[in-house]
Amino acid sequence: MVPFDQGVLVPARPSRTAAATGLLGLLAPLLVGLAVPAATSTHTTAAAASSADAPVPDRTSGPVVATAFDEEPGSAAAGARGIRKWPRGRITYVDRTKDRDAVRAAVKLWNRSGVKIRFVKVRKASRAALVIRDSTNVPSGCGSGLASLGYVPGGRAFVNILHGGDEGGQGCAFPGQTLVVAHELGHVLGLRHDDSRCSVMNSSHVNGVAQRECLGEDLSATAKPGRWRCRVLERVDLKRAARMYGGRPKVRQQEWCDAIERIPATGPVTWTPDSYGGAGDLTVVRGAEPPVPGWLGTWGFGAPGLEVHATPGVCTAVPGDDATTVRTDLWEVPVGASQEVSLYGLAPGTHCVSVWQFDQGTNYALAPSTVTVTVS
Ligand SMILES: [Zn+2]
Repeated sequence: MVPFDQGVLVPARPSRTAAATGLLGLLAPLLVGLAVPAATSTHTTAAAASSADAPVPDRTSGPVVATAFDEEPGSAAAGARGIRKWPRGRITYVDRTKDRDAVRAAVKLWNRSGVKIRFVKVRKASRAALVIRDSTNVPSGCGSGLASLGYVPGGRAFVNILHGGDEGGQGCAFPGQTLVVAHELGHVLGLRHDDSRCSVMNSSHVNGVAQRECLGEDLSATAKPGRWRCRVLERVDLKRAARMYGGRPKVRQQEWCDAIERIPATGPVTWTPDSYGGAGDLTVVRGAEPPVPGWLGTWGFGAPGLEVHATPGVCTAVPGDDATTVRTDLWEVPVGASQEVSLYGLAPGTHCVSVWQFDQGTNYALAPSTVTVTVS
């Protein structure tokens, strides 16, 4: 079982006992071969309830769900030694799915991998050795698939995937569906499951974000809504495929990519000192936020807000760093309006106060807004 932590929200008021234990207890039971029902959602409230004026962040997080890609394909040649290679590594295919972008992306990844294989798109099904299609004949619903294993002499290889809607979450939307198609194409090439390491051939993925073993134990560090494992094909996959087909594969893609547009910039901030030492008010204008796609709304996120950091002298803070975070709040105002945020307990001297907006998936704005604060 894997604890999923969406982030700890600690209103910064050192004089109060704000011992926020923000671990969102989301457990992901990982069962191979079965879609796992959603774990119970929990609300976690940062412990600032005793303060009348400090807002109480309340973040809700949806379920972390491990979905089996499929079951190990069985075939007449089910034994590992019976798996056949495709002649000359060439596989003609037709795409009969509604997930054209996912199929295109998965095919491109394999074709550019450096392994001596080539998926070649053809128009006529009669000329295709492989049919990629939407089907309800998949083992675990949306985000899972079914495929034949290796070359099928005299027959036709197939990949089934299920086309889903927004309600199915990232696992059945682009780009998450790409993981499923790339996995099934791995079976088509002749690869079996590998749960011993991070591989596209892991038997399950988590929320369509990444193959299970690519996430490690700390899902909070990796399985963020709005990101996905865009590398898809790992070194081990390319090595295995190259052992069958030859070639000199190289991993080129970065590991993680944004799946949604990030907030371009945090809105402007101003500082008003008050009469208490080390205290004052920030006024932060809520910057524009790109729309959040529906499929992201089905799991694992809370409310958008802002994170405030203070560093002595110069602006060295990085978003998400607990050591420099002095306050985290959720927005109570619409985009374009300003919100007041009180800061307490700043040491005498000059501080750079950096503010990052974050979206519902705790994806930070690409740029913070900063203000220099002098405390006497
Ligand atoms: Zn599989």
